[in-house]
Amino acid sequence: MVARQTATTAAATQARVEQAPVKAAPVEQASVEQAPVEQASVEQASVEQAPVEQAPVKAASVRKVSAAKAPAAAPKPRRLARAANPLVPKRRDPDTDALPPLPRIPADMRLGTHVSSQGGSFAAPPRAIEIGATALQLFTKTPNQWKEREIGADEAVQFRAALRAAGLPVTVSHDSYLINLASPDDAMRTRSIESFATELRRCHALGIDYLVSHPGNYMDDRDAGIARNAAAIAQALQQEQGPTILCLETTAGTGTALGRTFEELAAIIDAVPPALRRRVGVCVDTCHVYSAGYDLVSDFDGVIDAFDRILGLERLRMWHLNDSKTPFGSHRDRHELIAEGSLGEQPFRRIMTDPRFARTVRILETPKLDDATRTDRVMLNRLLGYVGIA
Ligand SMILES: [Zn+2]
Ligand SMILES: [Zn+2]
Repeated sequence: MVARQTATTAAATQARVEQAPVKAAPVEQASVEQAPVEQASVEQASVEQAPVEQAPVKAASVRKVSAAKAPAAAPKPRRLARAANPLVPKRRDPDTDALPPLPRIPADMRLGTHVSSQGGSFAAPPRAIEIGATALQLFTKTPNQWKEREIGADEAVQFRAALRAAGLPVTVSHDSYLINLASPDDAMRTRSIESFATELRRCHALGIDYLVSHPGNYMDDRDAGIARNAAAIAQALQQEQGPTILCLETTAGTGTALGRTFEELAAIIDAVPPALRRRVGVCVDTCHVYSAGYDLVSDFDGVIDAFDRILGLERLRMWHLNDSKTPFGSHRDRHELIAEGSLGEQPFRRIMTDPRFARTVRILETPKLDDATRTDRVMLNRLLGYVGIA
């Protein structure tokens, strides 16, 4: 189903994002309104396919930043060989060609990755089986196009059958990157609400547990944007009744993106009427919060305390586990393999072992390199290693 970007397009988009000024123009322009798209293309590239990597050099320099910040000398993780790097000769012996072992995730641990839904939504659960996941995240439509689709009865039956066959207890969908529920432009906002409501409708039809959504870009005035975002969420939740829990995701705070602070998320949630608010939670993306200025490396407990104070830990339903290619406070959204970026191993060790997070859903959105199954298995096994499994 997915009209996928080529790696070249993704790299080009990424390059554009990096050159984009941090502050979005106050006047709404087509290019500014598309800011979430660009961010999204990056995320999609890292989620859905391997971006063209020159990372060994870059990651190494990022790693130094993290080493300087790290409180204790953590053991150096084994780096995942990046086959895309022409400097690294590809070994072809049977050992390296064998798939890493299937991660042995305990049944009560809700851990998985974003998987491709190419071939149809029902094609995603088998991909989760291949990596031993107990939770999966997918797109229910092409995320960087406005074209909507409804879930027919056949697809709903097929998807639920695939879930049962996979024994998957938790499913998550990520909404389209084009949606901007905080836009001051009426036409854009109306279109976004329609698209967002359709996302919810598809989730309900498929029986998906959580819909993750990035807060919008306020463009003009922050408080007005928060009010618009909350009203739009309320309208869609009112219109589409069902079991799916909406999880607002923390953002890196690029440009005028809302969600860079816990206070902004709390303000959006508080402005949703209480009866609908019960259907709203929060997804913390580790890469995004670190880029937004929450220091998970040097002050993990302080960050969690702040979340609890401002939002309440009961709202924390989900984590997006991503290391970051950029330094602390960069306000950029560039996912890196776990323990191979500026966050390093320690925050992930904490998230995997703290009993307060045992019931949260934990989803990887790390780069897939040139083999999604292999890379996802390595990542999941790495996380399980932090809890003494595998
Ligand atoms: Zn995320
Ligand atoms: Zn991201």
